[in-house]
Amino acid sequence: MITLRPDYYDSFKCIADKCRHTCCAGWEIDIDEDSMALYRERPDIMCHIKDSSFILQGRDERCPFLLDNGLCKLILDYGEDILCDVCTEHPRFYNYQDDIEYIGLGLCCEAALDLIIDREDKFRLVKGIVSDEGEVLGSDPYDKIPFGIDEVNDFEGKISDLLADLSPEARNCTERAGFYLTLEFLDPEWPEMLKALSAEPVTADKRNAYIDGCPKEFRNLITYFLYRHMGDRKIASESVRLIAEIAVSQGLPLKEVARIYAVEIEYSDVNTDILADM
Ligand code: SF4
Repeated sequence: MITLRPDYYDSFKCIADKCRHTCCAGWEIDIDEDSMALYRERPDIMCHIKDSSFILQGRDERCPFLLDNGLCKLILDYGEDILCDVCTEHPRFYNYQDDIEYIGLGLCCEAALDLIIDREDKFRLVKGIVSDEGEVLGSDPYDKIPFGIDEVNDFEGKISDLLADLSPEARNCTERAGFYLTLEFLDPEWPEMLKALSAEPVTADKRNAYIDGCPKEFRNLITYFLYRHMGDRKIASESVRLIAEIAVSQGLPLKEVARIYAVEIEYSDVNTDILADM
């Protein structure tokens, strides 16, 4: 099978103890069957598992193997091969269309976020082949950029105009915050941010001025969402509008809002299904 991945994909490396928002806390970790078979032979691991999930600890819901210094005790004791699929794969995502596998990195991870948002060049893909063992072989440049991303790559005007071309604004800021409030949430802080936005909405002019002031970052966000959601222009535009509005209204750094957005929206099948039906 042909597999495509953004050209920054191979540069990803978990920053482990330097990560301020570790993925080893706050997430339920379901363990796959092959890993469970491995863990059953190790009582020191099994004693931290219930119903094929690690027993999370404390108010932060930390993985029992997350050490205070931010490192993973399982990796230190046994090496990376001991990790279950969820831990090995995070923050990667996979989409499939017409016998092509589209691999990417999710915005919820700090290290991936830097690679995605700080990128100076246009969005590009590289091609590989998936071997029978599931290994990705090869990295040839791939010129046929899918999902309408070329339109973003080649756009020369203001990013706010590009957004309007991708999907006209169907909701104002208050309506958009209200819509996102109907979705599932993970962290109780997220609905509070949406309520604050709804109470003090940002005008479209103010939001667009902010977007046009960070053209590289917003172009990268738009291409990310188009790739992540396989060309869904409405999801891409609405996601970017909301992220900009929260950043403006609450004076938060753009990257931080984008990360929280991805955590809340992209890791809930319920939320992504509702967005896809939008
Ligand atoms: S969020 Fe990303 S950088 Fe942070 S611990 Fe997880 S994989 Fe590593």
